[in-house]
Amino acid sequence: MLGLNNTVSQQLNFYGNTTPTKLVEQYGSPLYVYNEEVFRDRCRELKDLVTYKNFQVNYSVKANSNLSLMKLAHEEGLKADAMSPGEIYVEQMAGFKSSDILYISNNVSSEEMQFAIDRNILISVDSISQLETYGKINSGGNVAIRFNPGVGAGHHEKVITGGKKTKFGVAISDIPKVKVLLKTYNLYLVGINQHIGSLFMDGDKYIEGAMSILNVAKEFDNLEFIDMGGGFGIPYQKLASQGRLDLVNLGERLDKVLHEFATEYGSEVTFKIEPGRYIVAESGILLGTVHSIKENFGITYVGTDLGFNVLKRPVMYDSHHDIEVYRSENIPSQNSHPVTIVGNICESGDIIAKDRLLPQILHNDILGVLDVGAYGYCMASNYNNRLRPAEVLIDSNGNPKLIRKRDTLEDLVRGFVL
Ligand SMILES: *Cc1c(COP(=O)(O)O)cnc(C)c1O
Repeated sequence: MLGLNNTVSQQLNFYGNTTPTKLVEQYGSPLYVYNEEVFRDRCRELKDLVTYKNFQVNYSVKANSNLSLMKLAHEEGLKADAMSPGEIYVEQMAGFKSSDILYISNNVSSEEMQFAIDRNILISVDSISQLETYGKINSGGNVAIRFNPGVGAGHHEKVITGGKKTKFGVAISDIPKVKVLLKTYNLYLVGINQHIGSLFMDGDKYIEGAMSILNVAKEFDNLEFIDMGGGFGIPYQKLASQGRLDLVNLGERLDKVLHEFATEYGSEVTFKIEPGRYIVAESGILLGTVHSIKENFGITYVGTDLGFNVLKRPVMYDSHHDIEVYRSENIPSQNSHPVTIVGNICESGDIIAKDRLLPQILHNDILGVLDVGAYGYCMASNYNNRLRPAEVLIDSNGNPKLIRKRDTLEDLVRGFVL
């Protein structure tokens, strides 16, 4: 197999004992491929972020809720966040105990709250009115609250979840109301959390966010935990030598802030973070096949099976994903030139990479879309009645293992009532 532009997967030995072309032959195209070692490394990096003893990493499984990957996270000693009863359901299947799970709810029904209460899972509520709903059905119980201290960060307006322009969290000015409701319903506030947004590459905002939630924490006695949120970014532009988030520097600064707070607060409170993307993004590569190459009005279109039904991020957030090229025969490419890589969905917006300078791509080449482990498969759909791809894990011995089957045509009609 000939690899072009493939320094990233090569350095990681991402495909172990197999190759992209063999994987596609065996499991079909498109195909999500994950690497166990990369996944485990990221879990460990974040577990070691600080020296502060009571520190917990909650994997935010909405980034990728494949059962096999969740089991790896569990094996690595991570805990988990849930955003829905469905996530609670699969987390318990993956081995997480009730006490390992924090249900970070947003505008949910009392039935959904009850689902968590019945399973002894702590809920974090996201508004005054949700706190009241909770109080009515679980008076005397434990509760957590998500605050929005006014700091936001993120790579796109749609994923900035703190600050003055988002639907999330309880405003600081509502703290007096919170206190009244806690008293009215005899609720015990065990923890507070926040999540300022997704994909920061510079620790300053995170530290700023952490300091603001710690200020909120001072308003409440006897908290068991303070959760500072996720959003840790990964370099999506590796081929342009984009640097990594400096976790050593961030960790050192955070450590200092946490120790100082614990001393002042007078208890060894638990600190949590809730990373999704950082844990899983880089452990995933999406493989697809080139089926057509054409030139329309001066633009070269590379037509593939990588529609936005398979990977939605480029269309949804204008996201950049680096692309590698693999070829079964040893035919070298001519010069690089700009191409636009598109999928097979019936919409003009179905573009996975625009104006990308890549080695000449040939019919039947396999493309590898990098860093798709997070918000990749979980956002895939059956749009255009296409089948969602299979998922394969390259295990620690370098061998591929199927961890989710490709959809079948029968899956498309499951649930229809005639
Ligand atoms: C999505 C989300 C996360 C994880 O975000 P990442 O950017 O993937 O780290 C953490 N906490 C909450 C509340 C979220 O909604």
